[in-house]
Amino acid sequence: MYQLSVPPPHYPFFEIVQGYLREAAALIGLPDHVRLILSEPKNELIVHFPVRMDDGDMKLFKGYRIQHNNVLGPYKGGIRYHEDVSLDELKALASQMTWKSALMGIPFGGAKGGIKFNPREHSEDELRRITRRFTHALSSNIGPSHDIPAPDVGTNAQTMVWMMDTFMNTGGTTEKSDQRAVVTGKTINCGGSEGRERATGQGVVHCIKEWAKENRFDLEGATAIVQGFGNVGSYAAALLAKLGVSTIATGDHTGYLRNEEGFNAHKLGEYVKEHGSIEGYPRGEKISRSEFFSMAADLCIPAALENQIGEEEGKALQVRLVAEGANGPINPDGEDVLADRGIPVIPDVLANSGGVTVSYYEWVQNRNSEHWDIEQVDARLLHTMRRGYQRTMYYAEKRGVNPRIAAYALALETLATSYAERGIFP
Ligand code: NAD
Repeated sequence: MYQLSVPPPHYPFFEIVQGYLREAAALIGLPDHVRLILSEPKNELIVHFPVRMDDGDMKLFKGYRIQHNNVLGPYKGGIRYHEDVSLDELKALASQMTWKSALMGIPFGGAKGGIKFNPREHSEDELRRITRRFTHALSSNIGPSHDIPAPDVGTNAQTMVWMMDTFMNTGGTTEKSDQRAVVTGKTINCGGSEGRERATGQGVVHCIKEWAKENRFDLEGATAIVQGFGNVGSYAAALLAKLGVSTIATGDHTGYLRNEEGFNAHKLGEYVKEHGSIEGYPRGEKISRSEFFSMAADLCIPAALENQIGEEEGKALQVRLVAEGANGPINPDGEDVLADRGIPVIPDVLANSGGVTVSYYEWVQNRNSEHWDIEQVDARLLHTMRRGYQRTMYYAEKRGVNPRIAAYALALETLATSYAERGIFP
C-alpha cells in the first residue's frame, strides 16, 4: 500500500482514456470502425536531436509529436517539457485534445508533444536552443493549417515565440506572416491573444461558477485547495479570489503550503514567476502532501499533473467539488471513491478547455490579421464555457452517466457524424 505522501503508483494513462472511450462509445452506439480509428493516434512522430550546452558539451534530446485526429480540423495541442514525458502519456493527452475540441465545438483535432527532460536544469539560452532544434526537427509536420502547438507543463509564451520564429525562418518565403498561426499561446507582441495566458484558469472558474449556480452554493467566503501553481493553478486561484474564494493550501513539485487566512494569489503567482516554485514563500506554513489532500475546503483544483488523486487521496479529500484543471489528475480508483462519496467532478476535457478555446481565437485573429480586445475574448469564452458546461451536465443527467462519460459521448457524437458524412478514404 502506498503512502499519501507520494503520488499513486504508475497508471497507464492511455489505457485509462481508452476505457472512457469504450464506455462512451457503448453508450452512444458508436460504429465499431469509428471507435477503432479513434483508439489510436493517426501519427506518432519521435525525433532525436543534438543541442550544444552552455559548457560546450553536446546532449541528445528525445522529442515527440503525437497527432491523434484531424477529422474536425488541424491537429491541436500543447508541448510539454518534463522529465516524465512518455509516448503513453502523450498519446493519452493527444486523444483528450480531440475530445475537448469536439465537445466545445472548436474546429480543431487533437495532438500533443513534448521533450523528455527537466527544463529547470537548463539556462534560458539552452532552452532556446533546445526549442529551436526541436521545432526544426518537427519541420513540416507542424503548420498553421496542419498542426498547431501551444504551451503546456514546462513551456510558456516565450517557448511558443521561439517555435514560431524558428518555423518562420526555416520555412518557405511566401506568406510568412500567415505562419504566426503555427503556434498559439504566444506573447501579445508576437501575435498572441488577449486573455490567452489566463484562459485555462478562467475556464475552470467559469465551470465552478456554473456549478455553484446550479447547486445554489455561495462562492463568497468559500475556500479552495489548489495543487500546482503554474499557469493553470495560479490563474484559477487569482480569479477565484475575485469571487471571494480563498486558496488556503497549495503545492507544487517542491512541496505544499497552508495559509488558513488565504494566500494572496497574485503575490504568490509573482513569487513563483521569480523563483520558479512556491518553495521559500514566507506567508505559508509547510505541510505534507497528505495534509494537503486531507484539508477541509469547499473546492479542490488539481492543476499539476495526471494521476495525482487515487484511492487514498479520494478517501482523504474533504471538499464539495473537484474541478480538474490538469489533464487526467484523477485515476479510476480515485474516481470510484469520489463517486461513492458523492463528491462531484468537473472533468478535464470540459473544465480545462478554456485554453484551447482561446487558442482557437488566437489562431482566427492571426489568420485574419485582427486583434480582439479583452472584452471580446472574455465574452466569447464565457459563452463557450457555459454552453459546454450546460450541454455536458444536461446529457449526464439525461443518460444517467457521470459528466466525464457525458463529455466523451458528446464529443464522439460529433466525430461520428463527421465520419458518417465523409466516409473512409478511399
Ligand atoms: P505549468 O508548468 O505552468 O505548471 C505546472 C505546475 O505543476 C507547477 O506548479 C509545478 O510545480 C507543478 N508540479 C509539477 N510536478 C508536480 C508534482 N509532482 N507534484 C505537485 N505539483 C507538481 O503547467 P500548466 O500549463 O499550468 O499545466 C498544468 C496542467 O494543466 C497540466 O495537466 C496541463 O496539461 C493542463 N492544461 C494546461 C493548459 C494550458 O493552457 N497551459 C490547458 C489545458 C490543460
